[in-house]
Amino acid sequence: MFNINIKESTTEQLYSAVLAYTQDKIADVESVSGDRTVYYMSAEFLIGKLLSNNLMNLKIYDEVAAELAKYGRDITELEQYEPEPALGNGGLGRLAACFVDSIATLGINGQGLGLVYHYGLFKQVFERNLQTEVKDVWLDKPTWLRKTDFSTTVKLGDLNVTSRMYEMDVLGYNNKKSVLRLFDLESIDDTVITSGISFDQSEYAKNLALFLYPDDSTEEGLRLRFAQQYFMVQSGLAWILKDRQDHLHTLNEDIVIQINDTHPSLTILLLFKELLNHGIELQEAIKIVENTFAYTNHTILAEALEKWPLAYFEAIDPSLVAIIKQLDEVVKNRSADKRVVLVDENNLVHMASLAIHFSYSVNGVAALHTDILKNSELKHFNDLYPTKFNNKTNGITFRRWLAFSNKPLTAYLDGLIGNDYMSDADHLEKLLAYREDKDVLNTLIDIKHGNKVRLQNYLKQTQNIDINPDSIFDIQIKRLHEYKRQQMNLLYIIHMYQEIKAGLILDRPLTVFFGSKAAPAYTIAKDIIHALLTVSKIIENDPVVSKQLQVVFVENYNVTLAEYLIPAADISEQISLASKEASGTGNMKFMLNGALTLGTLDGANVEIAELVGEDNIYIFGEHSETIIEHYAKADYVSRDYYENSTLIKDAVDFIVSDLMLELGSKENLKRLHHELISKDWFMTLIDLEDYISVKNEMLKAYEDREDWSQKTLVNIAKAGFFSSDRTIMEYDRDIWKTNKY
Ligand SMILES: *Cc1c(COP(=O)(O)O)cnc(C)c1O
Repeated sequence: MFNINIKESTTEQLYSAVLAYTQDKIADVESVSGDRTVYYMSAEFLIGKLLSNNLMNLKIYDEVAAELAKYGRDITELEQYEPEPALGNGGLGRLAACFVDSIATLGINGQGLGLVYHYGLFKQVFERNLQTEVKDVWLDKPTWLRKTDFSTTVKLGDLNVTSRMYEMDVLGYNNKKSVLRLFDLESIDDTVITSGISFDQSEYAKNLALFLYPDDSTEEGLRLRFAQQYFMVQSGLAWILKDRQDHLHTLNEDIVIQINDTHPSLTILLLFKELLNHGIELQEAIKIVENTFAYTNHTILAEALEKWPLAYFEAIDPSLVAIIKQLDEVVKNRSADKRVVLVDENNLVHMASLAIHFSYSVNGVAALHTDILKNSELKHFNDLYPTKFNNKTNGITFRRWLAFSNKPLTAYLDGLIGNDYMSDADHLEKLLAYREDKDVLNTLIDIKHGNKVRLQNYLKQTQNIDINPDSIFDIQIKRLHEYKRQQMNLLYIIHMYQEIKAGLILDRPLTVFFGSKAAPAYTIAKDIIHALLTVSKIIENDPVVSKQLQVVFVENYNVTLAEYLIPAADISEQISLASKEASGTGNMKFMLNGALTLGTLDGANVEIAELVGEDNIYIFGEHSETIIEHYAKADYVSRDYYENSTLIKDAVDFIVSDLMLELGSKENLKRLHHELISKDWFMTLIDLEDYISVKNEMLKAYEDREDWSQKTLVNIAKAGFFSSDRTIMEYDRDIWKTNKY
C-alpha cells in the first residue's frame, strides 16, 4: 500500500509514506466549485493534526490502521509523531478551521486565506511554576503544505519582499475538498531570533512570517504587527485579483471576502487602491468594495479593537493615507456622530469602523453578542446601518470534535440512532428517545470513564502527570484572560482547600484541569498561571487534601490536548464575566461530548441553556445587563466584596499566605493579590460566592449517577444546533449567497 517496508521503517519514513499516500487519495477528490467564490481571510487557522482526520473523511482510516497493524505498527505512533500546525492561537483560529471543514463538506465554493507562521504563537514551557515561551517548531517534519508557483512582490516602504503561496487541502466529509492558501516570506531567516521568542523586530525581510501575534507591548512590535497584516492582505488580494483585472467593475458579483475579525481589514483599503489605480471613480469604487466585504466581529473588548496610527500607513504604503482621508470625508458626510469616525482626533484609524462602513454585512457570533453589538457596543453604527447587522452563532465540526476525538461515543451513537447526524446534526435528537433507558444511561457513564482512562494514559505518557479516573473531571481550557476568569476558579480551589483543611470530606475526589496560554506580555495572566501552579503543588504536597482534590495544569494547551481532555470531562467551565465572551466554542465541544456546563449567561452559553433547559445546565452569576450597567456607572468596587465577606477575604488572602510565598514568587503573587483587591476589572469577586455554591451543588448532583447521565444525554442530543455546518449554511444563505443554501 505504501511502497515501503512497513515493519522496518522509522516512524518518520512511515509517516512520510502514509502522508504521501493520503495526499494522493485527496488529489482525486473533487474540489468545491461554483460561480461565486468565497474567500475566508483570517490571521489564524488552528487546524489541528490532519492525518487521522483526513483518513476518516476519506473513510479509509480503519483500512490504513489494519494495514499498519499487519506489520506490527500502530497508527497512534504516527498520530503522535505528527506535529500540530502552529497556525493559530485560540477560538477565533479554531473557528476558521471548523468553517473551512464545513465549507468543504457542504461543497460551497470557498477557500481560506492566511499566513504560514514558522514558529506559531509560542510553545509554553513551565519553569519554577512560571510560563516561559520558546518557539513552536513544526516545519522540521514532513508537512501537508504544498509549495505552489504563485508568488507576489510585497512592497513595504522601500523594502520589497517576495510572498510565496502554499496550499493545504481541507477534506470535507462528503467527498469534496476545499483549500487553505497560506502565504510565506521567501527571505525568512530565523537567525534574527536571539533567544526564546525574542527577535530583531526591525528586519521585516527576515521576520514577517516567524511568529503569530508578535509582542505588541512596544512601538516597534506594533509596527511589525501592522507590517505583518499588510503582508498577509497584500498577498491574499494579489491571489484574489490574479485573473480578475478585466472584471473589476463586477467584482462584487463574482466574489465575497469574509474578514475574520479586523486583522485582515486592511484588505478593504488595498482593494480601494487597486480600483482607483484602474481609473474607477471613487463613488463606483465604494459601491464595489461595500458589496464585496463582509465582516465578523469577535469581541467587544476595547483592547482588541484595532486602531493604527496614520504614521504606520505612511511608512508602509503612503498611497493609503490619501485614500483614508477621502474615505474619512465620505464617513463624515454620512454621519456627524463622533462615535462612528474612521480617523479620530489622534490620527488613529479605527479598523472596525473601516470594516463596518465599507462592508455589506456585520455579524456577531452568538445571539447575545449580536444583541450587545446592536444595542450598546456598536449601537451608533447599527442606527446608521440598521440592515447590516446580523447574527451567526458559531459552531464546531462534529467530524473532529466527535467522530475523531470521541470514537467510543460515536460508535455507540451510530449503533443506537444511526449515523445520519454526521451530515445532518439535528438527527442527534433521536437520542432523546432513550432518556429513560437505564442501559443507555449506564453505557454513557462507562464511555465517559473509558475516556478518562484514555486521558490518564496520555497525560502520564506525554507530561508525566498522574490522575485519578474515578474522580470528577472539572475542566477549564481556553486562552488565559481575566475576562474568562480562571482566577475565579483559582479562588474556588483555594476555598475548597481551606474547607478540607477544616474537616470537609467530599463525596468523591475532584480533579480540576486547566490548559491555557497567556500572551507573553500579559503580566496578570501570567501571574494567574503562577498562582494556579503554586496552589497545585501545595495541594499535591498535602497528604490529607491531595486525597480529595487535585489541580492539573497541562503544559502547552493545543488542539491535540483538547481532543483528549474534552471527551473525558464531567464539568465544562464557561465562567466568563457576562457580556465579555462573544460566543465561545469550547462550550459547544464539551456539550457534544456529554459534559455539563457550569457557566454564566454569556456568549453561546445562553443558547445552550435555552436548548437543554434549566435542569440540564448549571447557571450562576450576574446577568450581562447588570454588568454593562456597572461599567457604565463605574461603580464596581472589588474591595467592598473583599471586606464584606470572610469567605472571599480568606480565599483572596491565601494568595499571599506564608505557604504560597514560600513556594511561589513573591512578586507575582503580591501583584495578583493587589490586582484582585484594588482593581479586578473583570469583576471576579462579584460572582465568586454564587460560583462556589453552584459548583458545590453540581458535585452533589454528580452522585445521582443515573440522573447526571440523563442530563449528559440531553446535552448530547441537543448539541446539533452547534454544528458548524449549520453556521456555514446560514452564512451562505444570508451573506455569501452562492446559491447553494
Ligand atoms: C475550541 C478551542 C478554543 C476555544 O475555546 P473557548 O473556550 O471557546 O475559548 C481554544 N483553543 C483550542 C485549542 C480549542 O480547541
